[in-house]
Amino acid sequence: MKKILIAGNWKMNNDVDESLKLVSEIESFISEKESLKCEVLVCPTFLSIFPVSQKIKNTKLQLGAQNCYYEPKGAFTGEISIEMLATEGVSHIIIGHSERRAIFNETDELINKKLSAILESGLTPILCIGETLDQREQGKTYDVLSSQLDKCLLGIQHSDVPKIVIAYEPIWAIGTGVSATTSQVDDAHNRLRKYLLDFYADGAKNTLLLYGGSLNEKNAAELLALENVNGGLIGGASLKSKSFTEIINIADDILK
Ligand code: PEP
Repeated sequence: MKKILIAGNWKMNNDVDESLKLVSEIESFISEKESLKCEVLVCPTFLSIFPVSQKIKNTKLQLGAQNCYYEPKGAFTGEISIEMLATEGVSHIIIGHSERRAIFNETDELINKKLSAILESGLTPILCIGETLDQREQGKTYDVLSSQLDKCLLGIQHSDVPKIVIAYEPIWAIGTGVSATTSQVDDAHNRLRKYLLDFYADGAKNTLLLYGGSLNEKNAAELLALENVNGGLIGGASLKSKSFTEIINIADDILK
């Protein structure tokens, strides 16, 4: 049966008051719905994680973090551990976002360490992969995606693959207002599913594959309906409760 996860990546937006306001609006919307079929996740800044966690306790909303470090504690100034996040009710952690790769020089090797540590802790990693426009135009999209998966999933147990969420995020579509087309997303997700099934056998049928890159209430119906799309990682449109909740409704209509 198809599953859909709608994940909002707030990036470095919203102070604590703004985060609480946004999450309250989303929560009221969900609690007024007759039923919620998709899963909904919000990923605030580290500063807002604690107050947001308090606010959504015992609700259907899930809480995610935008990053973590793989060591449990120690002299790692500016970092935050997976255990610390888990204690505050975080269930998912985004890793390998293209902004972290490009601006903070994160490598596939570092992302692999984070991925292993998150799986060990029992939390769910959301692993982001994606190609640049240049790579796509040179016909290298699938080499790039396979190479990222080869390196990020190195040493991962077959039985852990269904516990990983993979977000396909073409870098040229992130924050640009230009989403990948339905056929580009379909093709990429079908190939990603095939890659996973080839390497990790049947369990990989259950790995959630999210699309991210200018996903909004206008293009969500087509993209989320694709067979191998199991949700979205949403930046800009997750910052407005109206857009985000419309996407939740669209997902629920697909799962009806
Ligand atoms: C993202 O940050 O992961 C993202 C997909 O952003 P946007 O939806 O704004 O393109």
